[in-house]
Amino acid sequence: MTVSIVLFTSDLRLHDHPPLRAALDGSDAVVPLFVRDEAVADAGFTAPNRMAFLADCLADLDSGLRERGGRLVVRSGDVVTEVTGVAAEAGADDVHIAAGVSAYAQRREERLRSALAARGRRLHVHDAVVTALAPGAVTPAASDHFAVFTPYYRRWARQPLRDPAAAPQAVRVPDGIGSEPVPSRPEVTAVSEGLARGGEKEARRRLAAWLRGGIGAYEDRHDDLPGDATSRLSPHLHFGTLSPVELVHRARGAGGPGAEAFVRQVAWRDFHHQVLAVRPDASTADYRSRHDRWRSQAEAKDDIEAWREGRTGYPVVDAAMRQLRHEGWMHNRGRLLTASFLVKTLYVDWRIGARHFLDLLVDGDVANNQLNWQWMAGTGTDSRPNRVLNPVAQARRYDPDGAYVRRWVPELAAIAGNAVHEPWKLRGPARVAPDYPEPIVELSEGLARFKKARGLD
Ligand code: FAD
Repeated sequence: MTVSIVLFTSDLRLHDHPPLRAALDGSDAVVPLFVRDEAVADAGFTAPNRMAFLADCLADLDSGLRERGGRLVVRSGDVVTEVTGVAAEAGADDVHIAAGVSAYAQRREERLRSALAARGRRLHVHDAVVTALAPGAVTPAASDHFAVFTPYYRRWARQPLRDPAAAPQAVRVPDGIGSEPVPSRPEVTAVSEGLARGGEKEARRRLAAWLRGGIGAYEDRHDDLPGDATSRLSPHLHFGTLSPVELVHRARGAGGPGAEAFVRQVAWRDFHHQVLAVRPDASTADYRSRHDRWRSQAEAKDDIEAWREGRTGYPVVDAAMRQLRHEGWMHNRGRLLTASFLVKTLYVDWRIGARHFLDLLVDGDVANNQLNWQWMAGTGTDSRPNRVLNPVAQARRYDPDGAYVRRWVPELAAIAGNAVHEPWKLRGPARVAPDYPEPIVELSEGLARFKKARGLD
C-alpha cells in the first residue's frame, strides 16, 4: 500500500486543495496531518484570537475528513521532526504541502525537503493554494517582483487561474497512526468576545451569503464604516478555509462592478504575498527606508497606550481600536486611519502598531499586516509615502452620521449626528461626555512633527 502525507498549514479546507488532490491521486492512503508547531508559538504568533479560530478550523477539518471516512492527525512539536516521524510510522514516501511566502515558511520548506530527502522521501510543494496566483507568476521586465500595485493588478487580472478542484469523496487514512486530541476553542483564554467562528463550513456559508447579497454593492459601500458592508472573509483566507482561486472564480461569476472591485481587493492580498516572497525581511525591516527616527518608546509611551486602548480623544480612531479589541477584526477603513494616526500623527514606529494588530487580529497575517502597515507608514509600496489621513475628515466622510462611533464609544452615545466626531467642541460649561478624554495631540502639531521628521517643511 502506498501512503502520502498532506501537511496542512494555511490551507485548512477540503474543497479546492491541490496537495490533497495530488496525494489522493498518487497513493492508496493519505495521512492528513496538522502540526502544532512550537516554533510558531516561540515566535509570538499564537495570539489567542487566532488560536481560537484555528481550533474551530481544525475541528471542522477533522469532521469533514470523518464524513469521508478519514480523520485529521494532530501532533505537536518541531514540524520537521513530526513530519519525518509520521512518514516513518506510516511508510509514506511523499509529503505534500502548500507553498508559503514568509521567511519561516520558506525555511520550513527547505528543512523538510532536505530531512525527507536524507531518508529517501520527497517533498511536493504546491503553488496557488494560499494565494490565487503564485508569487512570481507575473513579474515586471527588470525585477523579481512588482513594487507597485496597479501594474501588478493589470497583469494579475489577465493571467488565467487554474480550475478549482472538487472536494474528495473519500479519504482513506492508514490504521495505527496516533493523534493528539483535536484542539477545541474553549481551551483558549483571553479571546475577544465578538470573535467570528472558524471552519470551512462557516467559510462556505459566508461566501454563499456574500455572493448572494453583499458583493453587488461592494464598490459603493466598501468604505462605509457603520454599514459593515465588506465580506469579512479575511480570516477564512488567512487560515485557508476558503480557497482564493475558488473565491476569485466565483466572484467573477457574480459579475458587475461590485465583483470587479472585490476581486481587485483580493489581488492586493496576492500583491503583498509576492512582495514578501522575495523580500521576507520586509516583515520587520523597512521595505524602503525614509530614514525615520521614530519617537522613542519611552517618549511615546502614553500615546501608544492611549492608541491601544482606544482613548486618544479622536472618536473614530477610538471606535476602530475598540472594535479590534472586541471582535479581533477591524474594518479596512478603520485599519487605515488608525495606522495613519499612529505612524504619522503620533510618529510612532510602524512595527509597534503592527505588533498590536498581530496580537489581536484574527486575520493577522505577516504579508498583509506588515506590508499594509509599511504602506501606511510610507516605508512600503505606497507611491505617496507622506500621505496623512486626518481622522476628523475621515470620520465625516466614512461615518457621516456618527453611527459607527456611537456603536463603539458608549461615552459619546448621547451626541447626535456628526457632532460626535469633535466632542471637544461641545465641552466647556455643557460638559458633554465627561468620561471621554481630550485629544492627546493637536492634529496640526502632529502634522508639523511628521513633516519636520521627513524633511518636508
Ligand atoms: P473585503 O473588503 O471584503 O476584501 C476581500 C479580501 O481582500 C479580504 O478578505 C482580504 O483578503 C483582501 N484584502 C482587502 N484589502 C486588502 C489589503 N489592503 N491588503 C491585502 N489584502 C486585502 N488583511 C489581512 O488579511 N490580514 C492582516 O493582518 C491585515 N492587516 C492590515 C493592517 C493594516 C494597517 C491595514 C491598513 C490593512 C490590513 N489588512 C489586513 C487588509 C484589510 O484591511 C483586510 O484584509 C480587510 O479589512 C478584511 O476585511 P474583509 O475580509 O471584509 O475585506
